[in-house]
Amino acid sequence: MSEKALIERRGLLLVVSSPSGAGKTTLAKRLLGSDAGIAISISATTRPKRPGEIDGKDYHFITPDEFERRDRAGFFLESAKVFGNRYGTPKEEVFNTLETGKDILFDIDWQGKQQLDERAGGDVVSVFILPPSRDALEQRLRSRGQDDDEVIRRRMEMADNEISHYAEYEYVILNDDIDKADTQLRSILAAERLKRRRQTGLRTFVDRVITPVVPD
Ligand code: 5GP
Repeated sequence: MSEKALIERRGLLLVVSSPSGAGKTTLAKRLLGSDAGIAISISATTRPKRPGEIDGKDYHFITPDEFERRDRAGFFLESAKVFGNRYGTPKEEVFNTLETGKDILFDIDWQGKQQLDERAGGDVVSVFILPPSRDALEQRLRSRGQDDDEVIRRRMEMADNEISHYAEYEYVILNDDIDKADTQLRSILAAERLKRRRQTGLRTFVDRVITPVVPD
């Protein structure tokens, strides 16, 4: 084993929440596409697939009955009802990934974040993404062209609800410029990875490699 390999790090759970339309998905895709040290948790949902979404990649799309069955069997690390549909994080996938030493990104809502705080406490890093304005948020929802007026109205109501929880998060990024927000999210991750308590083997490393050996 090389001496540097004495230092290891526990994987962390990076929770990113925002109202839909605030740029969270874009930020997540950019991070995942360029940082091999982090993987995304793929949730299960009872919501119908949107055009372009892929089963097993965007979500595991399952029926309400199947969701209920898995929920009762303790399959989910956290679960919540959002916008009338059920969403849940498969427990086993998360633990398998953490075991490989990777961090995990969670694109989940405030309810899921609260449950992860209870279950994984000190390993959770939470970030809330705010849109630059209410108009910008509505614009982004409309420009997706996926939802009708009634759905947009309900999504804006949901957004108000989600935003009302921003203060429960450790970090808040105002996304008025996607490149800036991207850099800020990476900076948070970089700093959190270096936290002393996340690094194991530091003591042995310092004793063996750094501390001078006093000749007798
Ligand atoms: P959408 O249906 O637009 O993909 O997601 C709606 C909301 O559900 C988003 O705020 C998203 O972050 C949240 N969500 C997605 N998966 C999960 C999950 O597994 N657990 C929880 N608690 N929320 C989720």
